[in-house]
Amino acid sequence: MDKYNIILLGPPGAGKGTHAEALKREFGVEHISTGDMLRAAVAEGTELGRQAKQYMDAGKLVPDEVVIGIVRERLSANRLDRALFDGFPRTPAQAEALEEVAVEVLLPAAVVIYLQVSDEEVVLRLSGRLQCRKCGAIYNTRYDQLESGSQCPSCQGEIYQRDDDQAEAILQRLRVYREQTAPLIDYYRKRGQLVEVQAEGSTIEAISAEVAAAVRGAAG
Ligand SMILES: [Zn+2]
Repeated sequence: MDKYNIILLGPPGAGKGTHAEALKREFGVEHISTGDMLRAAVAEGTELGRQAKQYMDAGKLVPDEVVIGIVRERLSANRLDRALFDGFPRTPAQAEALEEVAVEVLLPAAVVIYLQVSDEEVVLRLSGRLQCRKCGAIYNTRYDQLESGSQCPSCQGEIYQRDDDQAEAILQRLRVYREQTAPLIDYYRKRGQLVEVQAEGSTIEAISAEVAAAVRGAAG
């Protein structure tokens, strides 16, 4: 199978960004970020971008058909062999729409990787996260000798913990995530497309290697 989509699923803190980078290097996939694409379409003032802007300005969620339209434009314009999605789709309806678009642009197969991480581990990972107020750099108390109130090593700005990285807020985000994505996980599992990878308990490199092996196995 030469042409396929990779869909990365997993809770916040599962390491989707890190593993996406590794997959880009290994498989030459194009990383499709719907957030980036929406912002680009708005900036370019395309028809779909103008529609999206109306919702964003009103503080509303951009509806599925607009998001899917932007995904379709991007996939057909670039004639990709492999595309990687993370953070999208979020619902079975979006998954079905993505599948239709993928068939149109001849990327019919989807490899769906579910990064499994326990709630306890997510809290550990995210509650250690710190950010610089000045340059926005992200640090972690687990890996960096820094704490809230430290000075940023690169710009001397103040380092702090964001409100949404406090343990209570993380658990709330997780509850929302699990509730919202459970139907999507079921959708892919029932179709036999879901490949589950244990995304904790070993090194990032070892987990990335497992993710790559899962993609190779599923893509045949
Ligand atoms: Zn800084």
